Amino acid sequence: MKINKSLSMALVLVLSITSILAQKKKKQKSNYILFTNVNIFDGTSETLSNGMSVLIENNMINKVSQNIKAPRGAKVIDGQGMTLMPGLIDCHTHLMINGKGLSDIENNQTWEDLALRGGAMAELYLSEGFTTVRDMGGANGGLNRAIAEGNIDGPRVYPSAAFIGGRGGHADFGNYSSKPGQETQMQRLNMTSEVAGPNDVIMVARNNFRQGATQLKIMQTGGVASLFDPWQLDGMMVAEIKAAVEIANSYQSYVGAHSYAKKSMMLALDLGVKTLEHGFMFDEEVNNKMIEKGAYITTNMTAFSPLLADIPALNDPRNQHKLQTATAAFKNYIPNVKKLKPKRGHQTDCVGGPDACQKQIAYEKHLGAEFFGNYETLKAMTSTAGEIVALSGPVVNPWPNGKLGVIEEGAYADILIVKGNPLKDINVIGANKEWFKAPKRDGVETIKIIMKDGVIYKNTLGK
Ligand SMILES: [Zn+2]
Repeated sequence: MKINKSLSMALVLVLSITSILAQKKKKQKSNYILFTNVNIFDGTSETLSNGMSVLIENNMINKVSQNIKAPRGAKVIDGQGMTLMPGLIDCHTHLMINGKGLSDIENNQTWEDLALRGGAMAELYLSEGFTTVRDMGGANGGLNRAIAEGNIDGPRVYPSAAFIGGRGGHADFGNYSSKPGQETQMQRLNMTSEVAGPNDVIMVARNNFRQGATQLKIMQTGGVASLFDPWQLDGMMVAEIKAAVEIANSYQSYVGAHSYAKKSMMLALDLGVKTLEHGFMFDEEVNNKMIEKGAYITTNMTAFSPLLADIPALNDPRNQHKLQTATAAFKNYIPNVKKLKPKRGHQTDCVGGPDACQKQIAYEKHLGAEFFGNYETLKAMTSTAGEIVALSGPVVNPWPNGKLGVIEEGAYADILIVKGNPLKDINVIGANKEWFKAPKRDGVETIKIIMKDGVIYKNTLGK
């Protein structure tokens, strides 16, 4: 009895301390920022809402209205009639995979080279207006930790950790002379994997989530610029894809598949894959299946650039034939997307290091608008991309408390203020019609404010 009594006394004590702490927490003062005199692109609407104000409370959007009274102590920022819009989202990056090429990464770099350049890539993306990226292979949880601790500036990162793929597939970055099953540097660093059967997939997939992945990335088909894998290859067996989907679902998350050929895309969707990466043979049947399954597609438009042949890897005679057959097979992608308007996310898919990627990021923004118009490409970088990152579900999504990619009450405060109307002129968010010849730049002059999670990282409104 005595023991029980002291136990219940202890419990009362604990409960009252908890409630004191809760009250204390409630009384903590909110931090307010009020943007006035802005025209809003909200991520979903095809027109701007003019003469608006947006109130930020801590890291969330508290109110969007024509007239908002500034709360006591609020910092008020006059938007000078500029456009306030969601921070951009890139649905397919590789922040940690950067160097002169894959063999350079495998042979000439250590984790220090990779980590420091990865940090520079994170800073680059933020300076280009991206407040969120979905990293589709290579980045583990460390990048988010370094950003959260304030060691580097960067976007929110949704990492996939190691690519999941088989020998000779699109995730095989080993040297020609390496033996099957022989560990490579990139495997050791959990940036890629070599799976042979569903058991290997289970092991790598679980390890990926353990290391901070928010979703999985499988290399279902081959590629064009890579060495060993024909783009038509079905590089993973049904049982392997199923295993990846099952493990992802056990974390209430999902799988994205690098997938080119139509039959591979249809199979992936049937097996529960939620995002088609690249998906170049997209057509009406694929679109219908995507709608049925609640799936999305993300495509890098540089694949359709006339400048593509200037990429050194594609000049390799071993890849020339792949390029020709791929160009013929993918020719209907753009007309099909224009006609069918699938749920599509923007992606840059750059693997070249900060200097090369800065140019590619700007060029990809331009191509999206060139092919599909400003509104469609802006939606692919904001509201639709926000839906895609949210597929990671309530358990492993690091930011499950609000939407990303929209300006609305209750969404995360990821905001750009840009000079000009991006629905009319895509260059105001940093698009550039030049690719390799573009001059080096330090951020985007017309992006005046960059806010992520309620924190202002850039403010040149006065300039
Ligand atoms: Zn990629």
